[in-house]
Amino acid sequence: MLSPYLSKEFLRQNDAETVIKLNANENPYGPPKSVLDSIRHFDGELFRYQGIYANNLREQLASFHGLESQMIMLGAGSSVLLQLLGHYVQQKSATLHYCSPTFNILPDTLKKAGGKLNSLPLTTDYKFDLAALKEADETPGAIYLVNPNNPTGTFYERTEMELFCKSINSETLIILDEAYIEYAGDGQSLVGLLKQMPNLIIVRTFSKIYGMAGLRMGYLMASAAIIRQLQQLVPWPNHDLSTLSLVAAGNALQSSSFVQTTRTTNARVMQSTIKALESLGYRCSPSVANFVYFNTKGQNLRAALEGYGVQIGQLDYENQTYARVTVGKEQEMERFVQCLQKLN
Ligand code: PLP
Repeated sequence: MLSPYLSKEFLRQNDAETVIKLNANENPYGPPKSVLDSIRHFDGELFRYQGIYANNLREQLASFHGLESQMIMLGAGSSVLLQLLGHYVQQKSATLHYCSPTFNILPDTLKKAGGKLNSLPLTTDYKFDLAALKEADETPGAIYLVNPNNPTGTFYERTEMELFCKSINSETLIILDEAYIEYAGDGQSLVGLLKQMPNLIIVRTFSKIYGMAGLRMGYLMASAAIIRQLQQLVPWPNHDLSTLSLVAAGNALQSSSFVQTTRTTNARVMQSTIKALESLGYRCSPSVANFVYFNTKGQNLRAALEGYGVQIGQLDYENQTYARVTVGKEQEMERFVQCLQKLN
């Protein structure tokens, strides 16, 4: 639905025919064609329910990541799994340590459930403050890491993240959200640590680089013991996933060339967007994901750009105004930049 700003009349007055949606970090190139074909040609039993134990996809994911299928848990989007983790952390009476701003579903769920939270600032270069998190950790504790981080796009290389995780008390639960990890390049995930670290939980999604946000499919990986405990928290475990989304996700795993092409195109369009933003005097955080976080110099850009039919996110930080713009297609970003030029 269009917001009041974006009525057809309003758009016409502002010379914009369509809405350009750059506010939810979706991948405008997806899903891969083979995924669409697998949905079009599906002739299985759509009258059956499907649930989190769906073994085909768990096995496909296990073989994709070199794990056992008991170490995989499925969810209708990773946000559902992050909510579940909020309840899990609460059940353990653990304090959740994390840095802000970040993706807030897990902290919000825990807060609403009456749990304990410890939000720390980012470093001056917009990264998770690993030293402060280590210092703050206590028993029973949990640490939430988002790498690359949303909204800043900042990133720690695998080796650095690995050192950090290994330095943390083995009783502390480490929840690592890798929603955008594919954008950071191959081999950056901490999946390889899961077998050695029973306190590590990694959350992934098909919504970002695979371009399947509307299909709602995410998963998490952890020790079989943690997975069993988490499964106990799901109210209707045999019934809550979509058959077509399961088929699509299994198919997406075979689309490595799509992932590579998307990554390269995204990086190219993002670099030109950052260059244009900087030439207009906006300071951007160094993103490796599919969005750019920048200081708006006090402008309320979200409202101003909506007037031109361009939707972006506004997430203020430390009493300053910041915006987050998703890297859309080249033409969409050109229009975004043209609109910004009009506002400057
Ligand atoms: N984690 C992060 C860091 C995100 O930015 C998002 C969505 O924007 C999600 C998880 C949730 O994605 P989904 O529920 O579509 O899997």
